[in-house]
Amino acid sequence: MSDHPVVVVGAGPTGLAAAAHLVQRGEHVLVLEAGDRAGASVSQWNHVRLFSRWDELIDPAAEKLLTATGWVRPQTGTCPTGADWVDLYLAPLAEALGDRVRFGARVVGVARRGRDRVVDAGRQTEPLTVHVHSESGEERIAARAVIDASGTWNSPNPLGGDGLPAKGEKAARISYRTPDLAAQRDRYAGKRIAVAGSGHSALTALVALAEPELGATIVWLLRRGSVGTTFGGGEADQLPARGALGLKAQKAVDAGRVEIVTGFRTAAVEREDDGRLTLESFDGRKVGGLDEVVALTGFRPDLSWLSEVRLDLDPVLQAPTGLAPLIDPNVHSCGTVYPHGESELRHPEPGVYLVGMKSYGRAPTFLALTGYEQVRSVVARIAGDHEAAGRVELVLPETGVCGGAGVFDAPAGECSGLVG
Ligand SMILES: Cc1cc2nc3c(=O)[nH]c(=O)nc-3n(C[C@H](O)[C@H](O)[C@H](O)COP(=O)(O)OP(=O)(O)OC[C@H]3O[C@@H](n4cnc5c(N)ncnc54)[C@H](O)[C@@H]3O)c2cc1C
Repeated sequence: MSDHPVVVVGAGPTGLAAAAHLVQRGEHVLVLEAGDRAGASVSQWNHVRLFSRWDELIDPAAEKLLTATGWVRPQTGTCPTGADWVDLYLAPLAEALGDRVRFGARVVGVARRGRDRVVDAGRQTEPLTVHVHSESGEERIAARAVIDASGTWNSPNPLGGDGLPAKGEKAARISYRTPDLAAQRDRYAGKRIAVAGSGHSALTALVALAEPELGATIVWLLRRGSVGTTFGGGEADQLPARGALGLKAQKAVDAGRVEIVTGFRTAAVEREDDGRLTLESFDGRKVGGLDEVVALTGFRPDLSWLSEVRLDLDPVLQAPTGLAPLIDPNVHSCGTVYPHGESELRHPEPGVYLVGMKSYGRAPTFLALTGYEQVRSVVARIAGDHEAAGRVELVLPETGVCGGAGVFDAPAGECSGLVG
């Protein structure tokens, strides 16, 4: 069994970091990536500037591997765009990992060899089997352990306030991505646009769309009952660019360029005679005359292909049960992240871990640094180094809005999705 590789699902920042840690510990690793490049999901938000600086976006084990190839760390104090993160870090890292990374390989299932989830016998002794679809067809790969770093980017939350698509939502033209104004200016210029959501992606969209030269009219739809801490910690945020984003969004609102509608939970999307959209809330309010709707209401994990392994997930967040209390937005005011490792990420299924953005389930404000610390600890455990697995080697930046109460100032559960 120990001859089998540790399979890492996804060549995003967390998956590639996991691979670097595995290489550093002399483990046999295979990274399976559905896309055609490293950072395939990050590439889809190329245009967005991160609020983290370079030194918060590079994993230490990955840096060691890269340095040996002659790679030079980008300017530490600056915040890259998604495109920079891919071009200057993730792509070279995948290259340094060589044929340990396979592109165009989509994982469609993970199981214990020859056993469905009901069978107890053999769970400690049999390897895992990873089911893969690629251009060359179906494949089964035996694995010693599986580290699922497949992210949540491909499963955005719907606009519907009850977590399911609103009536008419599927047929309507709704964007679930932060607008790229360099490529889509005509689509948004001079239009009346609803932006739904209260996380960093929604703030990024507001700031971009409220730029006076665009001449757009913005309606900001919040599910929560008041704006509250939505703008974040401002100058108190330990990530200055994240604080500045909230301040810029607040400035756009204060300048009257954004109309705010609170407590709005979309129940239906209707098409008007002129082709514009009207949104109706569960309490019967309507926001109409919309040319565009941008829904940035968070993400959720795709757990469908993990149905045959035994996971221990929190029923609310769909995050590992040990991690959920540390990141639950109903409890924590702010999305400040608490360092954690293998013990919080462990499942009843031996050798299976959810890490990175996916480990957060539906919780907001995942940081790359968190993922790097997770995989350092998980890989240490896989390699049998229990002392290193149990150590916490990270202090994470606080958002500056921690006050103890839940982030949702509406009653518990009346929340909007937030995104990283
Ligand atoms: C717009 C935006 C801005 C952000 N800004 C910051 C920031 O400033 N600072 C910060 O610390 N964090 C930020 N984040 C949060 C987080 O760090 C990133 O989302 C990061 O990309 C998460 O890394 P990941 O490796 O966990 O997942 P991803 O980057 O989503 O990578 C997952 C990979 O898995 C692949 N995959 C998916 N399914 C399969 C499958 N079944 N089989 C094989 N491969 C699969 C995908 O193609 C993808 O390449 C931001 C997130 C977003 C969306």
